[in-house]
Amino acid sequence: MSAAAAVDFDAVVIGGGPAGATAADDLARLGHRVLLLDRAGRIKPCGGAIPPRLIQDFAIPEHLLVARATAARMVSPKAVEVDIPIEGGFVGMVDRQQFDEWLRERAASHGAVRCVGSFERMTRDDDGLSVVHFSADGGARSVRTRAVIGADGARSQVAQQAVPAADRGRFVFAYHEVIAVPDALPPGYAPGRCEVHYNGTLSPDFYGWVFPHGASVSVGTGSADKGFSLRRGVMQLRAAAGLAHARTLRREGAPIPMKPLPRWDNGRDVVLAGDAAGVVAPASGEGIYYAMLGGRLAAEAVAQLLTTGDARALATARRRFMREHGRVFWVLGLMQRFWYSSDKRRERFVSICRDKDVQQLTFDAYMHKRLVRARPLAHMRIFFKDMAHLLGLARV
Ligand SMILES: Cc1cc2nc3c(=O)[nH]c(=O)nc-3n(C[C@H](O)[C@H](O)[C@H](O)COP(=O)(O)OP(=O)(O)OC[C@H]3O[C@@H](n4cnc5c(N)ncnc54)[C@H](O)[C@@H]3O)c2cc1C
Repeated sequence: MSAAAAVDFDAVVIGGGPAGATAADDLARLGHRVLLLDRAGRIKPCGGAIPPRLIQDFAIPEHLLVARATAARMVSPKAVEVDIPIEGGFVGMVDRQQFDEWLRERAASHGAVRCVGSFERMTRDDDGLSVVHFSADGGARSVRTRAVIGADGARSQVAQQAVPAADRGRFVFAYHEVIAVPDALPPGYAPGRCEVHYNGTLSPDFYGWVFPHGASVSVGTGSADKGFSLRRGVMQLRAAAGLAHARTLRREGAPIPMKPLPRWDNGRDVVLAGDAAGVVAPASGEGIYYAMLGGRLAAEAVAQLLTTGDARALATARRRFMREHGRVFWVLGLMQRFWYSSDKRRERFVSICRDKDVQQLTFDAYMHKRLVRARPLAHMRIFFKDMAHLLGLARV
């Protein structure tokens, strides 16, 4: 039997969230035989905010946007509010139940084989090919493949089993409540405005949020401090938003990785993507865009491996990602450690956000995933203002 006939799939993608569904779609479009294995039954806990760059790069149809935020409100520990209009654009809101399923179906429509099942382990046959073992339909199953993409989320089993140093991940634990928006809107509630609260009582090291989703709203917070009560934080946020007695639809939480893993591949036939690779932006916790980009880069790396047989191609996924976003992740990590460490600093941070240059730079970076190089003077001004705040020279 030829090697080609002996494999069941060219690639097996484990996990059907944004990373895995994108990877499976891209590989299927290239004509590869792909299995997309996803454990069903749980809606991913997520605020569901996505930037226009994602909508554009991954061809997301309008109907998946349940709301569009055209303004953001930053709230300081002393309840100082800084409103930032999102000029000429919007932040899209998606509900992950529909969004993820739509992405998986798009992959299937291009030829990926979908399977509802739970990954268990990988072994290697005598000829060196990987065998993926999983449970599905109440039984044990296995498939042989040339490549595996591990997109099975923050607690990735693929990473633990196949990729060196995968146990070095750091996490914030995030928790949110999905609430039905009452018919009579609470005073101050704006369906087109995201709120971001910086306050040590809501989170000692992250932030709290109120993200409107049309008929529902996500109210959540996060922290790396295991002793901190996220539920109490959310209760407080709900009260502040006038949503204390509104109907709760879901309560759910999940870890958010805070640092890209040092390696995303095993040098042979496995590569990671998305939360499994540790790629969520520090400070903001934004992960959907980076998961989809990671899925795309992993798919390109696997396509190259399948065509050339050269396993070094797998390392290009991390290299390319870090070349484009590594510096921003590093800066955001510094920001989180500095600005989110005390209420005094949070107060200053919100105060900085009043600055038009800071608003412009932040939104360009978030919405379009680029820093605008055309305005070096503005960057200089921000740098000096930032320094003034860091050193406590500027008034709050
Ligand atoms: C409370 C909260 C709020 C957030 N808010 C935002 C936000 O507003 N905007 C934003 O951009 N990001 C947000 N994030 C981060 C974002 O949700 C993640 O970064 C993103 O979902 C990562 O996508 P992924 O495909 O890598 O992983 P996931 O979305 O976690 O998908 C992993 C998939 O793998 C499957 N899986 C896991 N184990 C197995 C197994 N053994 N076998 C088979 N399948 C398996 C799961 O069922 C799941 O479908 C938030 C996260 C949390 C926790």
